[in-house]
Amino acid sequence: MIIVLKNNIRENEITAFREYLEKKYNIGVHVSTGHDSVVLGLIGDTSAVDEDSVKAQEIVQEVKRVQEPYKKSNRKFHPDNTVITLENGLKIGDGDLTLVAGPCSVENEEQVTEVAQAVKTSGAVILRGGAFKPRTSPYAFQGMGVDGLALLKKAREKTGLPIISEVMSVSQLRLFDDVDIIQVGARNMQNFELLKELGRQRRPIMLKRGLSSTIEELLMSAEYIMSSGNEQVILCERGIRTFETKTRNTLDISAVPILKRLSHLPVFVDPSHASGIPWLVEPLSMAAVAAGADGLIIEVHNNPAKALCDGAQSLTPAMFESTVKSIRKIADAVGKRI
Ligand code: PEP
Ligand code: MN
Repeated sequence: MIIVLKNNIRENEITAFREYLEKKYNIGVHVSTGHDSVVLGLIGDTSAVDEDSVKAQEIVQEVKRVQEPYKKSNRKFHPDNTVITLENGLKIGDGDLTLVAGPCSVENEEQVTEVAQAVKTSGAVILRGGAFKPRTSPYAFQGMGVDGLALLKKAREKTGLPIISEVMSVSQLRLFDDVDIIQVGARNMQNFELLKELGRQRRPIMLKRGLSSTIEELLMSAEYIMSSGNEQVILCERGIRTFETKTRNTLDISAVPILKRLSHLPVFVDPSHASGIPWLVEPLSMAAVAAGADGLIIEVHNNPAKALCDGAQSLTPAMFESTVKSIRKIADAVGKRI
């Protein structure tokens, strides 16, 4: 971080400010005195330095960050890819492509097991299914709750597929003890109390990008989880809100290589929520794999027309099967196994 001071600041004020910064943030400060301005260069880990509080100082003219404010998720401090190993031995982020698929929400036993079996046959290795659903309307189906989690676990027993499901609040967390991956939805990406609590868990977390969040904000949210003690975080690009109305969201494909460059964490793409349109899931999945995604999370329903949530964007098991065939071609081309 570089701090430019205002003109004509007295020597003793500069010294006092330098000593204050060094002590408060446990860093070094290099003072360079130019012709008509003084510049302070902060040396060391500046992630805890509060830019706004520095800016608010009477003697400060300008503050510039030269290092990212996230540390634990930063590839600079952890050059190797993070590989997450699930209880069944499945590795995420090890260079292969991880396919996650399943219904938006768990609706009944037959639905979830039927979909689980079908997606497994096509190549999925993790089953998704929401039990607590964040819906725009309070009158819409809110998910089966704890019964939904029980059905998801039943489907895991039958298929052997690990499960992922979304938690919406700290109070729900105790119900997720036996869930292989805990999902944080887009709407909760900045629920900082939830993120801190997830940092105290010993389970992998999939963190979805907020509807209008920047890449840096996503990484700062990952930082919340990691700095609280849980380094098993998967980042997920799921489309962001733009002026475009042809799709439900706009898939920010460049987020994939950018996140891979900035961070060592596995990066997934959710083409279902990014597009909202079943036929777009295939080309967006292919693009995501070409761009370097470590995994995909795709919504599949055995009867989309009757789905209680997100039926309009869900693939049928047959569509999923043919989508995976196309994904395989790209995976082959970029040297990833499914
Ligand atoms: C979901 O996965 O069903 C979901 C609600 O996703 P998002 O939080 O990305 O909207
Ligand atoms: Mn959904």
